[in-house]
Amino acid sequence: MGHVPPDTDSVCSPIIYAWYLQQTGVNAKAVISGKLNRETEFLLKHFNLPQPEIISEVGEGDQLILLDTNNPEELINGYDKATVIEVIDHHKLAGLTTPAPLKVTIRPYACVATILFEMFDEKIAVNMPEDIAGLMLAAILSDTLKFTSPTTTDRDREAAKTIAEHAGIGIDDLASQMFAAKSNLEGMSPADILTSDHKNFKFGESTYKVAVLETTDPQQALDRKDELLVEMQNVKSSENLAGVFFFVVNILKSEATLIVSDDSLRSLAEKAFGQSWTGDTMHLPGVVSRKKQMIPPLEKAAQA
Ligand code: MN
Ligand code: MN
Repeated sequence: MGHVPPDTDSVCSPIIYAWYLQQTGVNAKAVISGKLNRETEFLLKHFNLPQPEIISEVGEGDQLILLDTNNPEELINGYDKATVIEVIDHHKLAGLTTPAPLKVTIRPYACVATILFEMFDEKIAVNMPEDIAGLMLAAILSDTLKFTSPTTTDRDREAAKTIAEHAGIGIDDLASQMFAAKSNLEGMSPADILTSDHKNFKFGESTYKVAVLETTDPQQALDRKDELLVEMQNVKSSENLAGVFFFVVNILKSEATLIVSDDSLRSLAEKAFGQSWTGDTMHLPGVVSRKKQMIPPLEKAAQA
């Protein structure tokens, strides 16, 4: 399983790896904890795959393989009672400890699916069924925002192109359908929007939430700024946070618009990004990656 809540990589990579392990005779099953986002929902329908079982807890006797995270803050309840037997990830080391040795594969690529592609025995990799290959390609397109994120490496690009050719899938076509699916906010509450992709970070003594919405239509979210701000205040008090940052990322223009839960975060954001506020939004040209472009400057500014 991947992180909680799951994004596309955190759903697809477990499905892909479970398939691979089954080919090698290991009885593995992909699971998720939390609701699918709209992009992932679209993908599973598109490739005719069932949604993985949703579980809320693991425990003693469970053997767990973690993909797309090694961060105790975003793991399923009870992970510390289960046995973590393997981690495959592309994030920085974040403090997971285990009582026994385990297999760990961490590579500095944009996506776990790229790592899986490299790990797989070639004989198995060339025989991937179209749906598995499709999920692998989709995860890479999702995590790289179709190769526009600065996290993208040559390995991600090469893996995606090879998979697309083998499976006969058009990269532009699949990416535009995925991005359209995730940009549709119709029927989503402010809480749904904020929780579809959020992570908490501890900067010094304070914990902040950094929520991100990747979209081709940022206006849809910005039109609902007032209700989003109310929900950000609610989340701040219910989770006892120092504040909430919400970045609306325009996938097509490679830029972000930032809104924050309260005024005390405004100067922190100015310091972090060297930009000023226009009303209650801050325009951030070129900023798309939480891991590379949002967290490091915020953390630095918070600790200065
Ligand atoms: Mn992820
Ligand atoms: Mn990922």
